[in-house]
Amino acid sequence: MELPYKVDFTGKVVVVTGAGGVLCGDMARAFAQAGAKVAALDINLPAVEELAAECRELNETCLAYKADVLSKESLEDVHQRILKDLGPCDLLINGAGGNNPRATTDNEYQHEAKEGQKTFFDLEPEGVDFVFKLNFQGTLLPTQVFAGDMAERKRGCILNISSMNAYVPLTKIPAYSGAKAAVSNFTQWLAVHFAGTGIRCNAIAPGFLVSDQNRALLFNEDGSPTTRSGKILTGTPMGRFVDSSELLGGVFFLCDDRAASAITGVVLPIDGGFAAYSGV
Ligand code: NAD
Repeated sequence: MELPYKVDFTGKVVVVTGAGGVLCGDMARAFAQAGAKVAALDINLPAVEELAAECRELNETCLAYKADVLSKESLEDVHQRILKDLGPCDLLINGAGGNNPRATTDNEYQHEAKEGQKTFFDLEPEGVDFVFKLNFQGTLLPTQVFAGDMAERKRGCILNISSMNAYVPLTKIPAYSGAKAAVSNFTQWLAVHFAGTGIRCNAIAPGFLVSDQNRALLFNEDGSPTTRSGKILTGTPMGRFVDSSELLGGVFFLCDDRAASAITGVVLPIDGGFAAYSGV
């Protein structure tokens, strides 16, 4: 993979949760290529095993671990294995997260809802809970487990993954928007809490990316944008989607102790200008 610039993470132990997914898989690959010893964690073991095998082929260090970011027991067990296999954690990327259809309305506006569609009034409490837990507790629990290594050695870095919807909520996804707002807020809280320990904590807020999971929602069969993606593009001053490779420059920068030595508590939008634009 082509790295955004040369930066040396040789010997750093980088723990990435959600590494079986699209964005954090790319981040794990990039850190391994930049010399880090990567621990790739995911609830989906085959996905991280595939990633680890890919890195092995390239003579890079990446080990796969099955872990549930919502289970402290599972995380503590994996932590002990990582300590033996790779050493203490220098850098934690809290990547596991996402939305769930049970916490999503069918329509943007209540007054447009049609018979049989899922409206705000039908949202399931369990679905809302699931999304809040995955994004918020799924950031808090791995931090409790892995930041101890950093505090002991008085250095380290945590990177959380927020989203555009943390600034202004997106229609249809109230729980995911609220949960990512909580992740941004928690990033600032952690930065302050850990400031005296030498640990920095920041986040990125990715804009709109095209992936296999959302391609059908964003594009019609003839390749033209759907109504929703047309709105996204109109709201993005750069007039295009963000590529997952474009997150890496910001990720490397925030995780590099030399480049970002005095930066803690920021949420960096990587969004083609979406968060800066009022629409007028
Ligand atoms: P993805 O669905 O491709 O990857 C998420 C990964 O997390 C999956 O491999 C999944 O198995 C894993 N996971 C889910 N629950 C888990 C659990 N309990 N324990 C451990 N692992 C678990 O998602 P992605 O698009 O790569 O997103 C990564 C992060 O970036 C998420 O936090 C997401 O909310 C955020 N984000 C994504 C976008 C986007 O457009 N893709 C935009 C903004 C923010």
